[in-house]
Amino acid sequence: MINFEYIKAATIKGATDARTKNASSQFIAGGTNLVDLMKKGVTAPEKLIDINALPLKQITADAKGILIGALALNSEVAEHAIIKSKYPLLAQAINAGASAQLRNMATVGGNIMQRTRCSYFYDITMPCNKREPGSGCAALQGQNRMHAVFGTSEKCIAVHPSDMCVALAALDATVHITGPKGNRKIAFTDFHRLPGETPELDNNLQKGELITGVHIPANSFDKSHYLKIRDRSSYAFALVSVAVAIQINNEGRIENIRIAMGGVAHKPWRLTELENFLQSGQAEMGWFKKGADLAMDGAKGFGHNNFKIKMGKAAVWEALWQASKKI
Ligand code: SF4
Repeated sequence: MINFEYIKAATIKGATDARTKNASSQFIAGGTNLVDLMKKGVTAPEKLIDINALPLKQITADAKGILIGALALNSEVAEHAIIKSKYPLLAQAINAGASAQLRNMATVGGNIMQRTRCSYFYDITMPCNKREPGSGCAALQGQNRMHAVFGTSEKCIAVHPSDMCVALAALDATVHITGPKGNRKIAFTDFHRLPGETPELDNNLQKGELITGVHIPANSFDKSHYLKIRDRSSYAFALVSVAVAIQINNEGRIENIRIAMGGVAHKPWRLTELENFLQSGQAEMGWFKKGADLAMDGAKGFGHNNFKIKMGKAAVWEALWQASKKI
C-alpha cells in the first residue's frame, strides 16, 4: 500500500505551482502508465496532481497546422477528421499503439511522457540506472531483445515505447510547455533525451513544467506510412517501427521526405541524413533500397537485439515503398 496525497488542479497555474512546490509530486491524467509504475513500486510520488479538469483537450486547426491539447485522448486524435485527412501518419501510428481501451484513456501528453517498457526497469529487484541511478544496467548483459541500437550509453540501452511520438518526430511537431518561468516551445525531436550519464531523465522538461499541447505544422506530404513490426498484431510494443511522410512530384521524384524510427533508441529516432540522401531521387524500389542500406549505419547491437539492424533496413525499405504507393 502506497500512501499519497491527491489533489485536483482547477487551473494550469495551480497545477504547475503544486508540481514546483513538491519535487516528489507527479501530474496524472489517464494514468495508463503511471498507475502501473506505482503498483509495481517503480515510483512512489508523495502527491498526485490530477490535471484532467484543465482546459487542454481542444484540437484546433488552421492554415499553419494543427494544435492538439495535451489532454486530448489518443482515440480522439486518431479519429479526428482533419488528422485523418491531413495528418494520416499520426492517426495510423496512434492506432498501431496499445489497445482500444488504453487509447480511450491515454492522453497525448501522457503518451509523450510514458516511460520505457524495459522489463528490468519494472522489476525492482534488478539493477537499473534509470530507476535507481548508480545501481547498474541489468539489460546490458541480460535479455535485451527489445532494446536500443542507436544512441545508447554504458548506463542505459532502453527504448522509448511510443508509436505516436515517432510520427510526431517525423512531422516536425513542436511541444508546447508551460511552467514557473512561463511558456516555451521545443522541437519534438529535442524533447526526449538520449540516456548519456543521466538515464533517469527521459526528457528536457524543467522543474514544474507541464506539456500543454503539440503543434504539427501544415505540410505538403501527400503520402505517408507507419510500419510497425512487433511480436503480435496488437497490444505489443515495436521491435522496430518506421514513420515515412513523402511528397512525390509529377516526374516521380522525391520532392520532400521525412523518416523517423521507433523501437531503436531512447527517443524517437529521426533519420535526417537518410532524408537528405533520398531527396530528389526517383521514388522507386531501387532508390529506396539504396537508402535503406544506409538507414542503420552506426547502429550497435547488444546480443539479443542484433537482429534489429537487419530488420531496421528491411523495415525502412518497406515503409518507403508502402508510403510511395499510397494514393
Ligand atoms: Fe534500466 Fe535502462 Fe538498463 Fe533498462 S536499459 S535496466 S531502463 S538502465
